[in-house]
Amino acid sequence: MRIDVATLFPEMFDPVLNQSIVGRGIKNGHIEIYTHDIRHYTENKHNRVDDKPYGGGTGMVMQAQPIYDCIMAIKSQMSVKPRMIYMSPQGEVLTQKKVQELAAEPWLILLCGHYEGVDQRVLDELECEEISVGDYVLTGGELPAMILCDAVARLQPGVLPNEDAYSIESHYSGLLEYPQFTRPEEWRGRKVPETLLTGDHRTVTEWQNREALRVTARKRPDMYNDYMKTRLEDFWNSFLEAKGLDKDTTYYKIQRLGQDEKASQRLIKLVMRGKKRATISACNIRGRDGSILPKKGAYTVIADWYGIPCCVIKTVRAQMIRFNEVTIEQVLKMGEDTSIEDWLERHRDFFKKTGADFSEDMPIVYEEFRLEYKGTK
Ligand code: SAM
Repeated sequence: MRIDVATLFPEMFDPVLNQSIVGRGIKNGHIEIYTHDIRHYTENKHNRVDDKPYGGGTGMVMQAQPIYDCIMAIKSQMSVKPRMIYMSPQGEVLTQKKVQELAAEPWLILLCGHYEGVDQRVLDELECEEISVGDYVLTGGELPAMILCDAVARLQPGVLPNEDAYSIESHYSGLLEYPQFTRPEEWRGRKVPETLLTGDHRTVTEWQNREALRVTARKRPDMYNDYMKTRLEDFWNSFLEAKGLDKDTTYYKIQRLGQDEKASQRLIKLVMRGKKRATISACNIRGRDGSILPKKGAYTVIADWYGIPCCVIKTVRAQMIRFNEVTIEQVLKMGEDTSIEDWLERHRDFFKKTGADFSEDMPIVYEEFRLEYKGTK
């Protein structure tokens, strides 16, 4: 991949882009980055490249002619069509998704503005796409261009040791990365999480996935919600496809099982094994249509403690019962090998935690279901 940068300050780039990982990437031929001094193209005898804005106002505006000639000279160097980008606080804010898109291009030309900006006519003439590095204003487009170069360069094959080095990092898959630790095992009384010392690859990966979800939910609830929405849509579409169902088929609700992560994992395993074929819930949990009782044949998505969809169940029957009327047959269908007394004791706690006004004869929803789809997780 090749990137050309048109700027009034080309000397700003070398100290940054010739260092470290990107510097090695350039040296080893994984990416080419060239800077071009716009000032070399001015026709003004005093070497000027800017002038006062029409209509008045403070600051200077970069003139169209030197920019246009500079870009045309760059364009003449290759026969492919470059993607022409003006670094601008008015542009689309750069995201990892956009970086991935740009990294797949063979050639980018970046135009850096300075002072009050650039004569609009040259941006129109060059049909520039505008990209911003954030909703704030910098003195020039040089730092934004360097940010874009760095982000795009590290995705070029060979720049990082392998794909893992960027694909499990923040933003790549829509989540933030899990916390990282290095030696020593204990520092100022703070220990590295035990799981990371086990050497058990599967447990470590599970921990990392869980932490990535937890960190994202805490630091970036917006990203977390988007991620969950996409996961659910993908999961639901795979289910419809696997079952040959109409694409308009909807689910009744998404449900988490249990009152904590451990209980949720245990209950999901029971559902997956077909041992748990019934469940109860408080009457304050409603379906997407607002009803309390799912109809026979309704689909429910069972999600894990973090909201990741795991399987789909189909209601066989649902009814309202009173908490203290639960029978041992129903307890067995719920997959619990326990006495009725023990079950009642544990579920008193559960209902109190759900926020329902608990009483021994409170109405609850008892639902029997069939496992319909296990997903691919
Ligand atoms: N007058 C312009 C405006 O209000 O939109 C701002 C000009 S700014 C002071 C000068 C140059 O810095 C711009 O032409 C642009 O190239 C660059 N720049 C400033 N902030 C930027 C940002 N957030 N992202 C990308 N480029 C930026």
